[in-house]
Amino acid sequence: MKKFSADFLHKIFLEYQGSINQQLDIETIYTDSREVVTNGLFVPLIGERFNGHDFLLQAIDKGAVASLWSKREEVPADLPDNFPLFFVEDPLEGLQQLATAYRDYINPTVIGVTGSNGKTTTKELIGSSLSEFYQVTKTEGNLNNLIGLPLSILRMPVQTEVLVLEMGMSGFSEIEQLSYIAKPDIAVITNIGESHIEHLGSREGISKAKLEIVEGLSEDGVLVVDGDEPLLEVDLPQRVVTCGFNSGLDYEVKDVVQSQNKTTFKINDQLFSIPLLGMHQAKNTAYALAISDLLNIDASKMAYSLANLSLPGMRFEQIETESGAVIVNDAYNASATSMRASIDVIKRFSQTYKVLVLGDIFELGQFAESEHRKVGEIINQEIDVVFTVGQDSQYIIKALPNDFKGRAEHFEDRDMLMNELEKYIKNDTVVLFKASRGMKFEQLIQHFIS
Ligand code: ATP
Ligand code: MG
Repeated sequence: MKKFSADFLHKIFLEYQGSINQQLDIETIYTDSREVVTNGLFVPLIGERFNGHDFLLQAIDKGAVASLWSKREEVPADLPDNFPLFFVEDPLEGLQQLATAYRDYINPTVIGVTGSNGKTTTKELIGSSLSEFYQVTKTEGNLNNLIGLPLSILRMPVQTEVLVLEMGMSGFSEIEQLSYIAKPDIAVITNIGESHIEHLGSREGISKAKLEIVEGLSEDGVLVVDGDEPLLEVDLPQRVVTCGFNSGLDYEVKDVVQSQNKTTFKINDQLFSIPLLGMHQAKNTAYALAISDLLNIDASKMAYSLANLSLPGMRFEQIETESGAVIVNDAYNASATSMRASIDVIKRFSQTYKVLVLGDIFELGQFAESEHRKVGEIINQEIDVVFTVGQDSQYIIKALPNDFKGRAEHFEDRDMLMNELEKYIKNDTVVLFKASRGMKFEQLIQHFIS
C-alpha cells in the first residue's frame, strides 16, 4: 500500500519539476542521505555543518525516488532526467507540513507528552500498555524535537490507531510549534522541574513553555497534568485531568511500596504493580491510566498490562558486578528533580550500604548553585557515602544536612574518585551513578562492569 501518493504530495507542494505521476510511490520520508531506503522522499535539511542539498546524488544511490528542494539552492546539473523535486521555501518546514498532512490523513488519536522529567518513561508506559488494546505507534527513543517529531509522525504505519509522541524543548515556542504540527487530542505535562531554566528564567517560565502544548490541542481535547504542581493549576476551555499524590485529584496515587524490582501502589483504589522503581513512576503510571480511561480501557485490564510491561532501554539500569555490588546506571541525563527522584529510589533499596556518585547538572546558569544545593538537602542517614565530581556538584556536598554522618567528598579529578570508589564496590552495596549526559559517567561505570 502506498503511504504517500502523488496526490498527497501535490496537495502540499504546488511547485515541482520532473515526472510526478500516479506511479510515484513513496514509502519513506527521511533526512539522512546515508540511509538505505526503498522508495524514499529525501528531505535535505540545512544544519550548522552540513547542507543536505549537497548529498542528493548520494541519497538517490541509496534509494531516494524524489526529494524536497529549497528554492534558494541550485539544482545539480547531473541530476537524473525527470527526477522529481518538490520546491519549498524551507525543507524543514516542508517536512513539518508533510507530517501534519499525514497525521490528518491517518487521523489516529494523538497523545503528546511533555514535561521537564519523565517524558520518555511516560511515553513508553502509555505506548506499551495501550498496545495490548490498540494499534499504537510511539516516538522511537528520544526523537522529540522539531525534526524528530515530524519524522516520528511520518514513520507511523497506516493502520495506526493511537500515536504517542514525546515533545521536548530547550526554549519558548518550541512546544507550541510541535503542538501545531502534531495537533494532539490528549496532552500530558508530566512535571515542571528546572531543566533549561537558563533560557526560561524561572519555574514559572518553564511551566509557561510546557503549557504551550495546549496551543495545538483540539477543542474537545484533554490536558492531563501533574496535579501536585501549583503552576499547572490552569483554567482552559479544554478538560483538565489531574494526577498525583495530593488528595482530591482525579487520579490519586497512594500507598506506594517499593521493593527490589517493582513498585506497588493504589490509584483510586485500584491496585497496581509495575516493574519500575520509585514514587515518580507511580505518578507516571497515573498518566497512563488517565489516558486509558479516556480510551475506554478497563482499569483492571490496564493493571494487568502494566504489571507485565517490558520497557526497552529504560533509564535506571541495574547491573550486578562480580563482587556482588549493584550499580545503578542513571547517567543518561540529570536535572535536580530527577537526581532527587533517583536518590529517593536508592534510599529504599534493601542493600545495607548505599553510595551516591553524583556529577554536575548542566545548563542551570545562575541557578547552578541553588539547584545543586537542593539535591544535597535531601541526602540523609539512609545514605552512607556521597562522592561528587566536576565543578558545581561540590554544592551538593556543601548543602548536606548537619546531622549527615556518612562519608562525603568532592573530587575535581576523576581518577582520584575512581581510586576511592573502588573500596565500595562490594557485596551488599548499591551504587548510584547520576549526572548530566556531558559528564560521560558511562565511562566510570564501564570500569567496574568490564
Ligand atoms: P529527556 O529530556 O532527556 O528526554 P525525559 O523527560 O524523557 O528526559 P526520562 O528519560 O523519562 O525523562 O526520565 C529521566 C529521569 O527523570 C528518570 O531517570 C527519573 O529519575 C526522572 N523522572 C521520571 N519521571 C519523573 C517524574 N514524573 N517526576 C520527576 N522525575 C521523574
Ligand atoms: Mg526523553
